[in-house]
Amino acid sequence: MRTVELKCGEVVPAMGQGTWMMGERPDLRPAETSALRLGVELGMTLIDTAEMYGDGAAETLIGEALGDVRDELFLVSKAYPQNASRKRLAVACEASLRRLGTDRLDLYLLHWRGSVPLAETVEAMEALRSAGKIRHWGVSNLDPDDMIELVGAGGRDCVTDQILYNLTRRGPEHDLLPWLEDHAMPAMAYSPVEQGRLLADLALARVAEAVGATPAQVALAWTLRRDGVIAIPKAGTAAHVRENRAAADLILSDADLAALDDAFPRPQGRGPLEML
Ligand code: NDP
Repeated sequence: MRTVELKCGEVVPAMGQGTWMMGERPDLRPAETSALRLGVELGMTLIDTAEMYGDGAAETLIGEALGDVRDELFLVSKAYPQNASRKRLAVACEASLRRLGTDRLDLYLLHWRGSVPLAETVEAMEALRSAGKIRHWGVSNLDPDDMIELVGAGGRDCVTDQILYNLTRRGPEHDLLPWLEDHAMPAMAYSPVEQGRLLADLALARVAEAVGATPAQVALAWTLRRDGVIAIPKAGTAAHVRENRAAADLILSDADLAALDDAFPRPQGRGPLEML
């Protein structure tokens, strides 16, 4: 598995597993459990979740499905903005730890920016880190101005910004990805296949056919073409997990990348950071 290095030198897989919408339907639980376990066996040991997902149901599923292999995992969870305060972050983190059945998170993220001042969230994250409840912290859905403010507010140890990034959402290439690169913060690309909507695109299908891969694999290989990007597709079936894992080994040629640039143009200027 290709890897990405965090600022502290720790290495994580370039492809992990998302869990939004998992753990919510009893009939899908066996398949979701097997999919997550298979993904871990195949090296996708970075697991992304959030207290928001299914109101804790995704975290509970992960705890049940992967509790016995916890030490192999790099577990990422996220706190609601309204919980990112001095008083509430420790409580939210404790609840996530309980649902996940673990004593520490490898990475804890602010899910998106709310009304709690960034300086207060930084302080609350650092307190959790000192207490050993989390090993690293980061943010999600923050734009370049927010990131500058975060660093100014004492957030130099932020390790990542988790953002919407895929072929149809190339805005971050204009300024956010270069800023993150300059600050040695890998980006985590969420919804890398645009929740499945991207996969019916005809231009993508043409490139996939030429490469001898599936559209999902080309879309994932494209997000990983840049160093310092981690992709976290969500897959609820073993077949999708295998397909996605193989995409981490797929290197697109300059001609493939040019064909994708034609179909999904680079951003011309700065726009607002998109989020789902
Ligand atoms: P994705 O782009 O990962 O798409 C998931 C969908 O694509 C599912 O329906 C899945 O189907 C399908 N899929 C996955 N692999 C394949 C494949 N090889 N072939 C065909 N279909 C496939 O969307 P998500 O929004 O789930 O994003 C990924 C993760 O990112 C989330 O699960 C979550 O952990 C995180 N996230 C973070 C956000 C944030 O604000 N920080 C916002 C949104 C997501 P199936 O399940 O049937 O396999």
